[in-house]
Amino acid sequence: MVKVNYHIHSTYSDGRATILEYVEEAVRKGFHEIAFTEHLAIRPGSMKKLYYSIDASKIGDYIEEVREAEKSFKGLKVKAGLEVDYFPGSESLLKDIFESNDLDFTMVSIHWIGEFCLDCVKYKKAFEIAVKEEGFDKFYSKYLRLLGEAVESGLFKVIAHFDVVRNWGFKTSSDFKRDELKILERAGILEMAVEVSSKGLRNPINEPYPARRILEYCGSLHIPITLGTDAHRLNEIDANYDSIVEYARSVGYSELATFNRGKLALVSL
Ligand SMILES: [Zn+2]
Ligand SMILES: [Zn+2]
Repeated sequence: MVKVNYHIHSTYSDGRATILEYVEEAVRKGFHEIAFTEHLAIRPGSMKKLYYSIDASKIGDYIEEVREAEKSFKGLKVKAGLEVDYFPGSESLLKDIFESNDLDFTMVSIHWIGEFCLDCVKYKKAFEIAVKEEGFDKFYSKYLRLLGEAVESGLFKVIAHFDVVRNWGFKTSSDFKRDELKILERAGILEMAVEVSSKGLRNPINEPYPARRILEYCGSLHIPITLGTDAHRLNEIDANYDSIVEYARSVGYSELATFNRGKLALVSL
């Protein structure tokens, strides 16, 4: 059994601690492997990065710093990934960035539906009002459509926080099983993994992502999982870590996906 966290943000994007600080903390807390997943968020058209994103020109430095950190802490594996915002039309831009950098893996996230950031406190009120007026099903359906497109692009290795759109505690009233399964079946064919995230346990939804139903679909499709706490500060490196280990096991998972230069390897959970 290994202790692994595959979702950490350092000061290269919007995290509050440096790579070295996290690595020291990971050693202290008994981790065997951690992966940094800096945000990469560039809207096509403007070509300007969003405020929480790493500067694309700094990705090389970032990877180098991760490799150096791994060398200085024998026994801890340290990986360099990106948590990438998918915006329709950004495929070729992202492909160029991925091809010119020696990343271990890329995770895809949908953080935006149009002008609404789905998990930013700043947008919470406006999103709540829109959901009240239009119903959550409409947003969930739009969210799944975007996630489906992102998966279809074939650019990513992992789906981050599959249903983060539920962040503020919203619930669907219709059954979206068909749409959810369609995305997961494609993800399975493309040999992607799905993240089990403890982030939701620190948010109003107070549940891990994805919902149990979705994680069970993943299990039945033999889709590998990664584990992540979505740490933005040092003390979040193991935030609700035991709960997500327990959660994944309760659905029948006994292995975790890890990545080395794009290659998936399973380790015991
Ligand atoms: Zn995210
Ligand atoms: Zn994140």
